[in-house]
Amino acid sequence: MSYENALKKIIKDGKSATVGDVTALLGADAKKRSLLYELADSVRSDFMGDEVHVRGIIEFSSFCSENCLYCGLRAGNRVLQRYRMEPGEIIAAARDAAGVGIKTIVLQSGQDVYYTADVLARIVSEIKSSLDVAVTLSLGLRPRGDLEVFRKAGADRYLLKHETADPVLFAWLRPGTTLKERLNCIYTLKELGYQVGSGNMVGLPGQTIVTLARDIVLLRDLKVEMAGIGPFVPNPDTPLGNSVGGDVEATLTVLAVARLLLPRLHLPATTSLGTIHKQGRRMALKCGANVIMPNVTPLQYRRNYAIYPGKAGRELEPGANVREIQYLLEDMGRRMGEGYGHSPDYMA
Ligand code: SF4
Repeated sequence: MSYENALKKIIKDGKSATVGDVTALLGADAKKRSLLYELADSVRSDFMGDEVHVRGIIEFSSFCSENCLYCGLRAGNRVLQRYRMEPGEIIAAARDAAGVGIKTIVLQSGQDVYYTADVLARIVSEIKSSLDVAVTLSLGLRPRGDLEVFRKAGADRYLLKHETADPVLFAWLRPGTTLKERLNCIYTLKELGYQVGSGNMVGLPGQTIVTLARDIVLLRDLKVEMAGIGPFVPNPDTPLGNSVGGDVEATLTVLAVARLLLPRLHLPATTSLGTIHKQGRRMALKCGANVIMPNVTPLQYRRNYAIYPGKAGRELEPGANVREIQYLLEDMGRRMGEGYGHSPDYMA
């Protein structure tokens, strides 16, 4: 299908778009890409408004039992200094973030069974009962029973990126795991009533624009409420340390096409994009993004949560982080969301 016909079809009815249609858009030349960005910005404005939802991430444990080839937290990385935050520290960090106006707390860690379901449920329950915030969990794969316990404790959302829709690439990147089991976990999360976030990396070794088109179509078919789409950033302490990373234009194009296909999806301007380009988050907010996720982990821990090096905003306290975001949004004629920023589809 030609670019023009694919664009017409996706704008008219994203539900019927095929991988071929999406691939036609992802292959756009520079002039057509600019048009895609403008269209995505206007679709974002029409469907999601001008509010940008701020989700504060607390990275509470850098221990991980897995060995993903691209990730600095992989168990095989002996260089990284590991840490675990105590439950009281996690709750205090959530309180600090809520104190500067953040309405969603994201509790994120490597896959770390040190924290039992009961311990995590108590943390979630304490945050939900004492602070006026939504809670997102990003803990990797956990058994259904644990996910049930977290949901009962008050967790609103769960973030589990599918990373790549190519099952062979997935199995290579994440040894010992399969795309199928990750997708099954996403189905379980949906059944349990979570708002679910997924997402993928752009620029992985061996990835093509057809793979990326499959990523976007998969996000649609999973009916997720949020998708984190960011560039692959190589970490020198991993087996993929010498690979070429994802680039800005490719990432913005995937983001913009995702917005066109999925007008009511929450799409973050990812920290990884802000890491590979100083203006990365601003550019993403002009290409369909409507969420920013600043790091609100206590400063003494941040450098040891090194999925990739040089994370944007790494050394800012929560208040300074929020102020910087507010300046950016004011400059762009946008504003920080004052509510929880739940998914409009979920609320409907
Ligand atoms: S991507 Fe997640 S599961 Fe894989 S090594 Fe990193 S933290 Fe662990």
